[in-house]
Amino acid sequence: MRQAILHCIRCGHRVTSRRIEGLDRAVCPACEHVHYENPLPVASAVVLDEQNRLLCVRRGQEPQKGEWCLPIGFAELGETIEEACLRELKEEAGIEGKIDHLLDVSSQTSDFYGDLLTVTFLVIPLSTEAQAGDDATEAAWFDLNKHPPLAFASNDRALGKLKKISHRSKK
Ligand SMILES: [Zn+2]
Repeated sequence: MRQAILHCIRCGHRVTSRRIEGLDRAVCPACEHVHYENPLPVASAVVLDEQNRLLCVRRGQEPQKGEWCLPIGFAELGETIEEACLRELKEEAGIEGKIDHLLDVSSQTSDFYGDLLTVTFLVIPLSTEAQAGDDATEAAWFDLNKHPPLAFASNDRALGKLKKISHRSKK
């Protein structure tokens, strides 16, 4: 879980808890700054190659270390959510990509990070030579219907949407 705020980010005074707009919030008694807290934005990529294989990465760090997932990571300050998605793809799988379209947005509560907002894009790969990097230990292509179980519910949900869309377009 994210750590509780103890000191004011503006003036450094110790904060107190006050109920504002229905939630207990850290408020600075010295400068009255209210520390609103929000879900952290996460970007993730569904990447398919020309054989309709799905790109997955194996996690080298907690949470869910050792499990597979889609390329995924937190958006940084100063970048768009699309840039975050393509950066994580490049860092974790060594693949350059191009955003095709927004696939899914979903909210989760993680024991590790607290509240998250995960934005998943369908990404067209500009190369297919996968090379694990950053916090991924492996990067590999899998049959879309036979990939390993994925660590995150947001990944399952986005893939479910993708399969529904492709099923519909085949009719
Ligand atoms: Zn303050």
